[in-house]
Amino acid sequence: ELLEKLDFAKMGLSDALLENLSQLNYTKPTHIQTKIIPLFLEGKDIVACSKTGSGKTAAYMIPLINKLKCHSGVIGTRALILIPSRELALQTSKCIRELIRGTDLKYAIVIGGHDYEGQFDSLASNPDILIATPGRVMEILQETKFTLTKVEHLVIDEADALFEMGFAPQIREILKRVSTKRQTMLLSATIPAELSQF
Ligand code: AMP
Repeated sequence: ELLEKLDFAKMGLSDALLENLSQLNYTKPTHIQTKIIPLFLEGKDIVACSKTGSGKTAAYMIPLINKLKCHSGVIGTRALILIPSRELALQTSKCIRELIRGTDLKYAIVIGGHDYEGQFDSLASNPDILIATPGRVMEILQETKFTLTKVEHLVIDEADALFEMGFAPQIREILKRVSTKRQTMLLSATIPAELSQF
């Protein structure tokens, strides 16, 4: 019975996702995926202690993709994933690319440092999911018509790193701009005092 509960196929995921997981050879959910996926699907807010290598990215990406289902014609991104670094952005984009296949969901990645114009252009596709550093999100909000009012799912990944890098003010500002009805998930390797308070 326990093994059955651990299986992706028993989690009520879409055929497209199950196909992608099978292509990736993800035969069993990792520990954190077993814990997070059902809670995320239920719409719960989640705080998770996790490290890179635990399968944490797919742990939220799988239920997120399952919930969003298909591209929305309504203007406004429905999921915002805040990340601290370019390195994590590359990992996250690999994960989303692999899991999104077979759906028409769109995503955009907006991070500091390079291809400013191209990144802004990608917002014109009305991405369902936006992966971004908090600083860049604030720039987009200030410089374009982009808003966060349609965000239903907010993921704060590597929150300890985000706070160490001094992004707390931007994160608080972003929280004010997303609906209070959103689902929120915070992932962090450690929960230092400042983060615990937050
Ligand atoms: P992460 O902790 O998100 O950095 O993921 C670590 C690595 O585990 C990534 O390369 C994923 O492709 C891989 N991975 C994630 N979930 C699974 C799974 N259920 N089975 C096998 N590999 C996985």
